[in-house]
This record gives sequence, structure tokens and C-alpha cells, in this order.
Amino acid sequence: MNLNSRPPIDALMTVNHRPAAVFTRGSGSWLWEEHGRRHLDLVQGWAVNTLGHAPSVIAAALADQAGRVLQVGPGLHNDRAIALAARLTALSGLDRCFFTNSGAEANEGAIKLARKFGQVHRGGAFEIITFEDSFHGRTLATMSASGKPGFDTMFAPQVPGFPKARLNDLASVEALVTERTVAVMLEPIQGEAGVVEATPAFLQALRSLCDARGLLLILDEVQTGVGRTGSWWGHEVAAIQPDIMTLGKGLGGGVPIGALLAREAVCCFAPGDQGGTYNGNALMCSAALAVVEAVNAPGFLPHVAERGAQLRAGLDRIGQRVGSPPVRGRGLLLALDLPGPGQAVHVAEALRLRADTGVLVNAVRPQRLRLMPALNILEDEVALALEAIEGAVV
Ligand code: PMP
Repeated sequence: MNLNSRPPIDALMTVNHRPAAVFTRGSGSWLWEEHGRRHLDLVQGWAVNTLGHAPSVIAAALADQAGRVLQVGPGLHNDRAIALAARLTALSGLDRCFFTNSGAEANEGAIKLARKFGQVHRGGAFEIITFEDSFHGRTLATMSASGKPGFDTMFAPQVPGFPKARLNDLASVEALVTERTVAVMLEPIQGEAGVVEATPAFLQALRSLCDARGLLLILDEVQTGVGRTGSWWGHEVAAIQPDIMTLGKGLGGGVPIGALLAREAVCCFAPGDQGGTYNGNALMCSAALAVVEAVNAPGFLPHVAERGAQLRAGLDRIGQRVGSPPVRGRGLLLALDLPGPGQAVHVAEALRLRADTGVLVNAVRPQRLRLMPALNILEDEVALALEAIEGAVV
């Protein structure tokens, strides 16, 4: 067999459809193809690059840490994990933290922690009420927790114990609560479903229901956490506190790290219950610490709110022209509905292929564009994006 006969890209397992272009370099809101074409990136590694592409603070943190120690392993402490856990618990008001390598793994940990809590404190209760259209990851348990259409049969049989309620419908949650229920789990804004918000009133009602029935409230802030919505956590808008919160994506600013945070009273893992070779390794924690410092700097979150307002206003203007409903989402997690069948797919493609400068956006649904730019995107970059989107939406 001639190993050179097929294009090298075919060595990758096909798991989705991707354009053929290969990207080699980025800076802030900009991303360059191998052969020079540049794109204004409003997808940013799928709502991951909090500080844009190749931010100098992450590069410096990684380089510095790489020269000290990468990984001491789960059997020993490292200073970076301790420092990051202290920052995240202080910022969230939760008490303890366990680090993971992805958002799905953080949610997997939340599910295990809730089930353990049920064994220890709730007579073996194990069911976790989750929501239609939700997305919690691609491990078997997190796919089972997700309400994404098709996930129920794709790798059947599912992991049992995840009855589905409807978002913003308290009665549908109440109807599922039994003595087997240990927790309710949801995203403050369902990102993959198309930027569908849990209303503050619904989050508050869930908090009260959980308190009244002795259930844990688990918030999946993998997409909404770390400043994405203009505040540190997506749930702040409802002035509630979860019992367990999961993070991923934006926490590492492009470096794979997630976290599971919980109240002290919930932290019932015994030694040996939870772990992972790379969890909390010093290299990833050093990157996340750089992100946390940047987001915590004075003026950073107000900037997110301002750029979010600018982007929302511009999208609403474009939407009004074509008869769209108001823009969805908060901060810099926004979505615009377009009226034509498949129009979002066509617009995203047209923007990517623009003559001089490509613009990367996500058609989260056939008729809905999702934008999740770097949180430090500049005013004129937002203006340029809006001009391009306006030109593509006809
Ligand atoms: N939860 C939510 C809310 C997400 O949006 C995602 C990723 N889109 C995940 C979990 C899974 O995270 P990861 O891909 O890092 O496993």
C-alpha cells in the first residue's frame, strides 16, 4: 500500500463535517489559514477562547510552567491546582473544587457526586432530572443526561436515571420528583440547543423546589461560566447559588481543563471514588489561572457587557430588517433567528467564504446563527462583524 497516496487529512477519523481549510495561526479575534486567508473568528474554538487566539498571558503562563513542572500526578499536590481551586471557590462562593480535562468529564463528576450523595444521605436516591434539548457532553452518562434529540438511541442502551423535564416549566419538573430523585441539573442558557435561556424566575423556582424537597441543584456552566454572559457565572442573573457547578470551555481559554465545584455539605466522595491521571495537572491549571486573573481584572466584565450590548443591538437591527424575533442570549453568547429555511447555514457559509476576509459564525440550528466571540473582542471588530453579517443576510 502506498501510504502517500491518500491526502494526509484522511488520517483523521471523520466525526463531523469540516471545511477543507487548515488553520495554523491566530491572534485575538483573528485566525489565519495555512495559505494566508484571514478570518474574524466569532466561534473561538466553540466558546472556548476567552481571551482570543494565542493570548500572550496564556503563552507566558504555559512557557513558565513548562519550565517548572508539567505534571506531578494525582497522587501528589501541585501549587497551581491549589491556587486555582482557591480562586474559583472564592469567586463562586462554593467550597471545594475537583479539576477535569473537559466539560463532559466535569458533568460526569457532578453526576457521580450527586449519586454518591444519594447513597450517603438520601437512602439510595439516584435520579437526576435533566431537560429536553439540553447538552451535557459526549460520554455515555452525559449523553444520557442530555436531552439532545437522537442521543437517546445513538449508543443504546443509555445510562438510566435521567428523566427529562421541559425548560421553564416548573410543573414538568415537579411531576418527575419521586423518592428516587436526588438532583436537578441544567444549563443557565442551553447553548447547543440554540441559546435558550432558563428564565431567572425558573432558576429561582428550581432553587426553592430543591430546597423544599432536599434535592441538589446542579448548574452546568461549561458554556456560560467564566464571564461569557457578562458576569462571572450565568446563574448570577437569578441571584441563586447552586449546590454543584461545572465549568469547562472558557476556563482554560483554549487549554483543556474543566472543574467541578460544590458546597462543603455535598462533598461526600471518599478516597478512591473519583480521580484521573491528568486531572488538575499544573500546566493546564497555570493557563486557567491566567484566564481567571484576566477576567477578574477591573473593567474586563464591563467590557464583555458593552461589546455584548453592541453586538446585540447590531444583530437586532439586522433582524428587524428581515423580520426576525429579538436576539437571544446574554453577554457574548448570542443568537439570531433568520426567517428562510436553512438560511443560517447559508449565511454562515457565505461569511466564511467572503472574498477578502472570512467571518466565522456558527449555524447552531438551520435557521439560527450563534455568536460566541472572544470576550476581549474590540469595538471595531464587532462593527466589522456586523457589517459582514448585514451584507450576508439578504
Ligand atoms: N456542557 C455544556 C453546556 C456544553 O456546551 C458542552 C460543550 N459544548 C459540554 C458540556 C461538553 O464539554 P466538552 O466538549 O468539553 O466535553
